[in-house]
Amino acid sequence: MDMKSRRLFQPRTVLAQALGANDPTTHALVPPIHMSTTFIRDADNGYESGFVYGRTDNATVMQVEAILTNLEDGADALLFSSGMAAATALFLGLDRPTHIVASEVMYWGLRKWLAEISRFGHSVTFADTSDLEAVKRAIRPGQTGIFWIETPSNPLWTLADIRAIADVAHDCGALLCVDSTVSTPLLTRPIELGADFVVHSATKYLNGHSDVIAGAVIAREESDYWKRVQAIRGQIGCVLGPFQAWLLMRGMRTLDIRVREQSRTASQLAQMLSEHPDILAVLYPGLKDHPGHDIAVKQMTGGFGGMLSIRLKGGETAAVRTASRVLVWKRATSLGGVESLVEHRASIEGVGTPCPADLLRLSVGLEDLQDLHLDLVQAIG
Ligand SMILES: *Cc1c(COP(=O)(O)O)cnc(C)c1O
Repeated sequence: MDMKSRRLFQPRTVLAQALGANDPTTHALVPPIHMSTTFIRDADNGYESGFVYGRTDNATVMQVEAILTNLEDGADALLFSSGMAAATALFLGLDRPTHIVASEVMYWGLRKWLAEISRFGHSVTFADTSDLEAVKRAIRPGQTGIFWIETPSNPLWTLADIRAIADVAHDCGALLCVDSTVSTPLLTRPIELGADFVVHSATKYLNGHSDVIAGAVIAREESDYWKRVQAIRGQIGCVLGPFQAWLLMRGMRTLDIRVREQSRTASQLAQMLSEHPDILAVLYPGLKDHPGHDIAVKQMTGGFGGMLSIRLKGGETAAVRTASRVLVWKRATSLGGVESLVEHRASIEGVGTPCPADLLRLSVGLEDLQDLHLDLVQAIG
């Protein structure tokens, strides 16, 4: 049976078997890593295989792209050397000065880059994308060409209504890109909800083992714009290396069970921490009092993700002190790996951050729930 026929199999099956990839020559179950940078030309000067040079053509990279295309129900996917390379390639692919509407609260690295995008001739308005009216107010008729949302978004885990914003974007002739890193292809399916592009920092949940930097974009259709993005990747050369692509494919085999288990632990932990007397607020889309809970219920299936944040009553001092005392949780930036991470975001984001100083961001890994809970309780002290 051909696994590549879209939606014939559940994501978990597609992931476990890497979309049926294997080695046609030896019948090795696990596909080889295609390391070659160049390909032998035919005697008639042609390239019958279609493979010419490694910056544009690599079979290992293409295998992972096929899995992502299937999972997101897109028309095509591209892997990049990082999530930032994936995101910036989309903006670099715009063919005329464009106004961009982006989430006010989003991944800090990309927000900083977007804030300076005028040097490429574009302009940007940051809006509260959890508020549909604020999104509409940000539109500049005739100029707005792209909406960029991240949901749930770093580090407050606010939700943006993908279907509603897709309608708003399409009504004004614009496209919608969704950074779905935190939701993963398992919990939210942006293209099904109307998005034109889905972006992932594959560094996070997709790879899941904190040992690969990678990014991906999946497109609803193979438009001219998409072809420019593809060309830009080849021209800049920000493609993923074959070894990283192979590691990513290996990591993705367990994506389904990792994400489900991480969501389950995060959800229980969020409940437990909400009862702690020194915690001012627990921010988790699965909690009924979370401002984005209703949208989360609508557009997330099978869990609310493995990310949450806590705000300490003792303010910044208490937050930094708590982070300094953890033993099981690791103090590090990044998210989505099998090890649980804690981070004082305001310190890393610096001046101008919308992140409260009393906030700790928690990326829940695969450790035992009680170990994680007790460690935080002792660290809060
Ligand atoms: C990490 C991250 C990025 C950037 O990805 P890199 O792989 O680090 O370049 C973009 N968006 C979100 C939501 C992220 O968490």
